[in-house]
Amino acid sequence: MTAFVHDFADGDKDQKDLLGGKGANLAEMTNLGLPVPPGFIIDTEACRAYLSVGTVPAGLAEEIGVHLAALEQRMGKRLGDPDDPLLVAVRSGAKFSMPGMMETVLNVGLNDDSVHGLAASSGDERFAWDSYRRLLQMFGSTVLGIDSAVFGKVLDGLKADRGAHVDTDLTTADLRELVAAFQELVEQHSGQPFPQDPREQLDRAVAAVFDSWNTDRARLYRRQDRIPDDLGTAVTVIAMVFGNCGAGSGTGVAFTRDPATGAHGVYGDYLENAQGEDVVAGIRNTLPLADLERLDPTSYAELLRIMAVLEEHYRDMCDIEFTIERGKLWMLQTRVGKRTPEAAFRIARTLVEQGVIDADEALQRVTGAQLAQLMFPRFDAAGVHDLLTTGMGASPGAAVGKAVFDSATAVAWAARGEDVVLVRKETNPDDLHGMVAAAGILTSHGGKTSHAAVVARGMGRTCVCGAEALDVDASARQFTVRDGRTVHEGDLISVDGTTGEVFLGAVEVSPSLIVRHFEGELPADADNLVAAVSEAMTRADAARRMRVRANADTAEDAARARRFGAEGIGLCRTEHMFLGDRRQLVEDLIVAESTAGQQAALEALLPLQRQDFTEILEAMDGFPVTIRLIDPPLHEFLPNLTELSVKVALAESRGAVDEHDRVLLDHVRRLHEQNPMLGLRGVRLGILIPGLFEMQARAILEAAADRRDAGGDPQPEIMIPLVASVREFEMVQRHILTVAEEVTAERGEVGYRLGTMIELPRAAVLADRIARSAEFFSFGTNDLTQMTWGFSRDDVEASFFATYLDNGIFDVSPFESLDTLGVGALVKIGTERGRATRPDLHVGVCGEHGGDPASIHFFAEVGLDYVSCSPYRVPVARLEAGRAALGE
Ligand code: PEP
Ligand code: MG
Repeated sequence: MTAFVHDFADGDKDQKDLLGGKGANLAEMTNLGLPVPPGFIIDTEACRAYLSVGTVPAGLAEEIGVHLAALEQRMGKRLGDPDDPLLVAVRSGAKFSMPGMMETVLNVGLNDDSVHGLAASSGDERFAWDSYRRLLQMFGSTVLGIDSAVFGKVLDGLKADRGAHVDTDLTTADLRELVAAFQELVEQHSGQPFPQDPREQLDRAVAAVFDSWNTDRARLYRRQDRIPDDLGTAVTVIAMVFGNCGAGSGTGVAFTRDPATGAHGVYGDYLENAQGEDVVAGIRNTLPLADLERLDPTSYAELLRIMAVLEEHYRDMCDIEFTIERGKLWMLQTRVGKRTPEAAFRIARTLVEQGVIDADEALQRVTGAQLAQLMFPRFDAAGVHDLLTTGMGASPGAAVGKAVFDSATAVAWAARGEDVVLVRKETNPDDLHGMVAAAGILTSHGGKTSHAAVVARGMGRTCVCGAEALDVDASARQFTVRDGRTVHEGDLISVDGTTGEVFLGAVEVSPSLIVRHFEGELPADADNLVAAVSEAMTRADAARRMRVRANADTAEDAARARRFGAEGIGLCRTEHMFLGDRRQLVEDLIVAESTAGQQAALEALLPLQRQDFTEILEAMDGFPVTIRLIDPPLHEFLPNLTELSVKVALAESRGAVDEHDRVLLDHVRRLHEQNPMLGLRGVRLGILIPGLFEMQARAILEAAADRRDAGGDPQPEIMIPLVASVREFEMVQRHILTVAEEVTAERGEVGYRLGTMIELPRAAVLADRIARSAEFFSFGTNDLTQMTWGFSRDDVEASFFATYLDNGIFDVSPFESLDTLGVGALVKIGTERGRATRPDLHVGVCGEHGGDPASIHFFAEVGLDYVSCSPYRVPVARLEAGRAALGE
């Protein structure tokens, strides 16, 4: 028989899967000899069994009975004993902390008899009746599902009647009356009297905690925090200790160090004569923890001693909850404390300085996601802040602009150069153009996986969503805050996509210190946060096996990437180089009727391309630069089919057709495709448009020769996109080899490598063949994801990903974080098969996933040589590649 119930003494902190975070850490503290009230844990397996069939698993009730008997024996009291009752708290606690999401029932064991016993044993009648009314209230709402406002209303009514300001003004007689009233409410709303049997109370409270795993708010929280739905919660049953038995008792929270910096010191809050829920409810003002020294020096000294023990044991900043019952200190909870990104870096550094951990462990305690947060501009802490409300920080950054309430206005105002924040109840695909135009997006509905959040993150737009306190009235072009303030169209607001805060007026924005450091504007010792980040980067660079390159199409981006630590360019997309003034040349190439016409267009493009490449090779001198030949369908460079058709039709009706337009329209029609992403693009262009790839290859090789002649160290790599078959690759390879021979004859030998993108499933599967000819691979995981899932990458995120995320089909967009099971398998197969043919095959990745922490760990595992990502993600990739190497 598997045991579902575990004594605190039988667990430890590493059993969070089974015992939940709270249970595992209570067990750990018990075994450290710290003063934890005795108790036991009903594990997550029992919860999962309960949730799968809706009844407690066989044997659980008996097991609880055995552990309860042991607890009673230790305490020398019986649960609910009429003379001197043992009372217990029934608390939830899942593997990952879900603050406030699940239920807790305190004071279990009180009934019409034992309340007298508690009064007698405590010598405090008022306290006994207050505890009983709290049980009725919590049991009523949590176990019996009665709206807690029902109880609140009666309590408030009584207070008003007695002229009482706070709960503590109520007398014993008042509380007795309240207990009677609450019992009536229970019977009235649930159709049954409040259960007097203590064991029944306990069993029903346990089941209610299990059930609370699946409340709507708990499910929503899990989706947003990417916590799996099938973990279940453990339940801790722990002997009650009371902080509400007068002066000399109280409850508090504390950190073992400064949660912002990691510095030693005393940090926390204390509330005299109170229970935990009073602290949370903010009923009275708490005292700084240091005041406890004056109130109760013995308990204070004991608390400091315990904090030192926890620090030494966990080797990290911990947060704790404690209660003092008549001068006796009890530990109710501890865990490695949550922290902000700044604090994570600072604390890690402080712990290294104090010799608690080494640099490797410090690196494991910070993440690329935290570093990314530190790289966004922030609202200036010293600026003027008029907080309107706080919603959910859905896409980081700091945006200031005029409030607008529809997309058309957002676009129109942005077009005349104004910064706008688009405010909507929620967004839908029709809002897309407004979201593109806005500096920030604010919604009153929806969570972190709502349309607004998903799309904003995809575009890197600042977004706050689910700001429920806002009543958005798009037709009146205004929103109202609960406190009555109204913001009209055109009023300035500021939104913080990291914290979720929304401010009235323009808050000053300051650039990230960390970015300024990476840019070379701030030395590492300018500030201790900068120093902490810099030290983590140094360690990561020393540890990592994978190189980090950048995706950059301009010399400026290349130079920035280099300052941010990029060791080359993994993807230089060349299509952007054919826009603007040069679009006409591409059009000429497409519509040219003769070879000579095509040749002329290519010759005009050649020197422009050569100049582009020279600049980029110069910015990345000494590092490899992978230049991808043109990829997108050519019609992207031609006028829009509908617009041109209308223009020609109108001209025809006037009898004045422009011959050029007519020819152009024929070509636009010819090149029009239903599914351009699956059409004439990538290597297919190289095969079908004579001279195009050759011109690009010549421009690259001549640029390299120029750089070499100028004393540089150019390392160009020519990359062919969208290859599916080795035959395709070999066809264009032949043409490029011919060009290379010509350039060599003219300019002398220039070194280069010729390789391919792997971005079609067929290429991954047949990588062994492709590697016969290709000298390197770069996984284009954007297309590989699109082609593997059959998702149009330009459409699906905005149209139906929110629904997919809501339904748990995936926890995160596969365009954001690699689908390791599917697309990742192709990356693995492609790498293995490619290296089977060519053992020294150099393999990297240049899709967006190259900058995503979880994906980077996967690529490190597969054995890729490098990741390539946008310049701003380069530090994140360096950090994560270092962490991945330490974990290998
Ligand atoms: C890719 O497909 O992953 C890639 C990097 O190329 P692009 O995004 O330009 O298609
Ligand atoms: Mg691609």
